[in-house]
Amino acid sequence: HEEGLSADLRDLRDQPAKTPDGTRVRLFANVALLSDVASSLGSGAEGIGLYRTELSFMLGERFPSEDAQYRTYRQVLEAFAPRPVIMRTLDIGGDKSLPYFPVVEENPSLGWRGIRVTLDHPEIFLIQMRAMLRANAGLNNLQVVLPMVSAMEEVEAARALYERALRDLRDEDVDAGRPPLGVMVEVPSAVSLAPILAREVDFVCIGTNDLTQFLLAVDRNNNRVAGLYDPLHPAVIDAVYRTVRDLHSAARTVSVCGEMAGDPAGAVALLGMGVDSLSMSSPRLPRIKKVIRTIHRRQAEELLHRALAMRTAGAVRSLLDEALELAG
Ligand code: PEP
Ligand code: MG
Repeated sequence: HEEGLSADLRDLRDQPAKTPDGTRVRLFANVALLSDVASSLGSGAEGIGLYRTELSFMLGERFPSEDAQYRTYRQVLEAFAPRPVIMRTLDIGGDKSLPYFPVVEENPSLGWRGIRVTLDHPEIFLIQMRAMLRANAGLNNLQVVLPMVSAMEEVEAARALYERALRDLRDEDVDAGRPPLGVMVEVPSAVSLAPILAREVDFVCIGTNDLTQFLLAVDRNNNRVAGLYDPLHPAVIDAVYRTVRDLHSAARTVSVCGEMAGDPAGAVALLGMGVDSLSMSSPRLPRIKKVIRTIHRRQAEELLHRALAMRTAGAVRSLLDEALELAG
């Protein structure tokens, strides 16, 4: 993507993502495959904010072995060390299926997916967790995030498996450290649980793609209703803002890793909420850095409060786009 960048954006790569009034926002890359790693490094990402492990599972003909997973995760962690890498446990189901593990359901978005699958198959979860933890040994830049959490029991069960993997590895004399464990907030129930989640986990990543889908009851992959799908819908902005406030009240960091983070208008709203980091596909990163270096935090807060009082996504988008245009 290097060729596509203007000289202006290329120069930005080594500049900090800091607003003119001094707020630092960390910018991370979303990564799906090893082949994304080089471009992410080149974009100036400060780490990986979301490594979607399921993509490498989708390429094979069977579940990858612990050693095969270890090798992949090790390469990703090594490429970014000492910068943090947030690895998500297997997030299949919904629109993402494995050819060797068919799941047929009437309503897959609301079905057996994400953490629900791996808690029903703890052996899959444990093998992946062991591979991640082994890969972290000596590097210590791993963070683990759980997808599609909708209830506290899931966090408790996943944490128990994580502790078991750590214990087993300690018995094998592997020093995997104790990587932070976080959850994705991408289901409306997790928004309501945010104050409780904050006490149980080390960090939270807000997944605005699924959160938008579930809050608006709009299938994110259905073209017929695509016109209704908008992360700038006032209800989505309100839910994200509540989550950020609840997490910050408990001194937890919050990142946003859905597409909203890589959309200039969305990034302004998130800046106004005081989100600690934004994670996006790496080609979007220079543009978002430019937005952050242009818009004052104070202005973003004012815009957010005006947006929160608006009635439609269209009105919110016009407000934010106009502000971006005026700022240059
Ligand atoms: C999300 O839902 O916002 C997210 C980041 O995860 P994915 O797009 O992989 O579902
Ligand atoms: Mg998701």
